[in-house]
Amino acid sequence: MSRGKASAGRRSRVNEADLRHLLDELKARIPASSVMGRAIKLKRAGRDYQGLCPFHQEKTPSFTVNDAKEFGHCFGCGWHGDIFRFVMDKEGCGFREAYQRLANDDLPTWTPQERAKAQAGQRLEDLEKEKDARRFFSESLPIVGTPGEVYLQARGITVAAPEFVRFGMVPSWRSKETGEWGRKRPAVICGAQDGSGAVVGIQRIFFKNDDPKLGKKDCKLSLGTIKGSALRLAPAGRSIIMAEGPEDGMSILQEGPGLPVWVPFGTSMMPAVDFPPEVRRVIIAGQNNTAGRIAANKAAISLSERGLEVAFAWPDRRFDDWNDQLRGALANG
Ligand SMILES: [Zn+2]
Repeated sequence: MSRGKASAGRRSRVNEADLRHLLDELKARIPASSVMGRAIKLKRAGRDYQGLCPFHQEKTPSFTVNDAKEFGHCFGCGWHGDIFRFVMDKEGCGFREAYQRLANDDLPTWTPQERAKAQAGQRLEDLEKEKDARRFFSESLPIVGTPGEVYLQARGITVAAPEFVRFGMVPSWRSKETGEWGRKRPAVICGAQDGSGAVVGIQRIFFKNDDPKLGKKDCKLSLGTIKGSALRLAPAGRSIIMAEGPEDGMSILQEGPGLPVWVPFGTSMMPAVDFPPEVRRVIIAGQNNTAGRIAANKAAISLSERGLEVAFAWPDRRFDDWNDQLRGALANG
């Protein structure tokens, strides 16, 4: 098999073992610190390099790169991965594009059999994650009287906690190599429900005060099937209101008790949500910043293409988001 540049636009075909070899070769050739060091400033620390994590906000470095082991790891948010994962997550691109950037070469295509095998493997992995998410959710507790309630209260949220917002002790990461989970930490656990209302994923909100390495911000991590699902804070009627995140959603519910608020964990996830058939109208509860408005408009276009009537609701101009409005916190204050 030729590993050179594919000629005349035709890529060579490889099997999975060849592909693995190709990737291992590339990882051995390009030091992780040179790839990750292009995106973030790294400082040598013994055998490792350290820098500010590009995947969560922090002021003190908790992102470590080890060239010998060919990976980067963040002790704050739990991000872990090799150069391919890094480029995919940093650039928001797929595996093929990440490979092209790194190898400056086209990735040989897989045979249809290899592709089917890889897809089946991916499905298994997804199901496994869904199972973990369901387990963490079922092991979680009602939020009243827990540090989760303290977190919400600090954001001015005192609305009677919806059924699918809970508290639990959960790990933030799992090693791909050994399958071991990281240590358990306190978190608000939001259940992401599929079309039938069953929990198929979770969003964990870890608290900044729990670990000084986490930096100045709380850290949100998803597990399981998030795309297509939503945290249902109240049952849908003919209309539903979609909010960007759990805090925004609960703030709206607090100002308007009984409103049918759903949270799809990000505006870009809104168009994929699996609604019951009676839902005809979607109100996008947007955020008052340029990125928020662009994302809301994009979501609106996709939702109208699904045949839904779409409207917007914005917080008062003085506030960045719905939770700021609830707390009376000014955008630039
Ligand atoms: Zn991090």
